[in-house]
Amino acid sequence: MLVRPPDLRYKIDIMATRTSFKVTIESRDNRSLTKTFGELTRLEWNAQEKLRNAARIFLILLGAMVVSIFIPMLHFILVPTLLIASFVVALDKLKEAARNDGGSAECPKCHATFVIQKSKWSDKFHDTCNHCREDLEIHLVR
Ligand SMILES: [Zn+2]
Repeated sequence: MLVRPPDLRYKIDIMATRTSFKVTIESRDNRSLTKTFGELTRLEWNAQEKLRNAARIFLILLGAMVVSIFIPMLHFILVPTLLIASFVVALDKLKEAARNDGGSAECPKCHATFVIQKSKWSDKFHDTCNHCREDLEIHLVR
């Protein structure tokens, strides 16, 4: 019987709280275009989940550092870089309480449905339409 490896990404997403938000989409170059609507998902972690996410990335980078000790010549660069990165990235992950998990919306210019890219959480986002390359501004509807 074939045993599948666990899908870690799926597990991480399951631990987060998902909330859907309605958003308005506005063109950044052509303000006369009518605003359109869409939806995006926010992933949110509580204090315990944030600590677990930070510990996970810290241990992964520290493990990569230990492995890189055995790579001749490259270890002079990789060991200090991965050591510093493990602390910096883990601290960044510890501070991250929420994340934009992407979504979809209608483009105000070509009216096709485009994919909202995943990004750090903020009150407004910038994205580009996959179809017409229009520069777009995404606002949350309160
Ligand atoms: Zn478009």
